Amino acid sequence: MYIGFDIGGTNIKGLLADKDGTILNFRKIPILKSIGEIEDSLINLITELASSDGKSLKKIKAIGIGSAGTIDKARGIVITSANIPAWKKYNLVKAVEKKTGIRTFLENDANAAIIGEWWKGNGKKFSNWIMITLGTGIGGGVIINNEIYTGKSGSAMEIGHTTIDYNGRKCYCGNTGCFEQYASATAIVRSAEKQLKKNPDSSVHMRLKREKITSKLIYEEAQKGDKFAKSVFDEASVFLGIGISNLISIFNPEAIIFGGGLSDACKIMIPIVKQVVKERVQPGLKENIKYLTITNQEKTPALGAVKVAIDSCESYKYSSGLTINKLTNNR
Ligand SMILES: [Zn+2]
Repeated sequence: MYIGFDIGGTNIKGLLADKDGTILNFRKIPILKSIGEIEDSLINLITELASSDGKSLKKIKAIGIGSAGTIDKARGIVITSANIPAWKKYNLVKAVEKKTGIRTFLENDANAAIIGEWWKGNGKKFSNWIMITLGTGIGGGVIINNEIYTGKSGSAMEIGHTTIDYNGRKCYCGNTGCFEQYASATAIVRSAEKQLKKNPDSSVHMRLKREKITSKLIYEEAQKGDKFAKSVFDEASVFLGIGISNLISIFNPEAIIFGGGLSDACKIMIPIVKQVVKERVQPGLKENIKYLTITNQEKTPALGAVKVAIDSCESYKYSSGLTINKLTNNR
């Protein structure tokens, strides 16, 4: 048995699965603020998941964690995570191993999502494809010739911080004009807030009397036909299309799969994305690309973390932990 976690800025999702990827239990809890609180809730969740069907902690072979932020996966350290400010050069793997005695492996959350999708989702059908995680920020992952590419330290495909406007909006990362400042859920909310006053007839105003503004709210109003909400999404979709055009020119993928909190809303973004790709990408690269959404946004990333744990255990056996980041091809 294995446990996989998907840790993001809002929730911790954890699941218990066997080595074939059959999910036996799933839990979701809100993430707390301090290091100690997060650690305690993780340990509680591990115990809960492990004992859910009469299994004890001893039956758990390994734990995989997909975490938001930049990571050093070989050392198990979260270097920095904008969405989880308490974690700075924080050795997450050591903390979990110390309290549970179970071998634990770390992966970037976007990579965990792509591994899960590659293993058990829509990604099964393709050998060269890209996952774009649209949520608070924009993350990405890439499968090249059926293997995940993670870069030197596991942080490849930080696509949210690639520049799409050289003189553009300031980003918290220090750069200007970052992709995620234009096409993430955060960007959509910011853009709506900015233009709301100029659009007094929008149905968004009615909703805001009772609710807080979110990208989901804007998406719902866009779907109902509100012109302003639709225009906010259209603008973000153009930027999304530009970012994706760059990726298509670099990787020549068979498919783009959307994940993250905004993956549902992608349905209204994909037509514009396709149009932008058609206008910007060269012939030979842009044809016959499939645009899909993640199979199960709730569970796939944590399931990917399970796969990380399984494969890491395998290579761990042979290399004494020196090479723990090779994804095997046995799906
Ligand atoms: Zn940035």
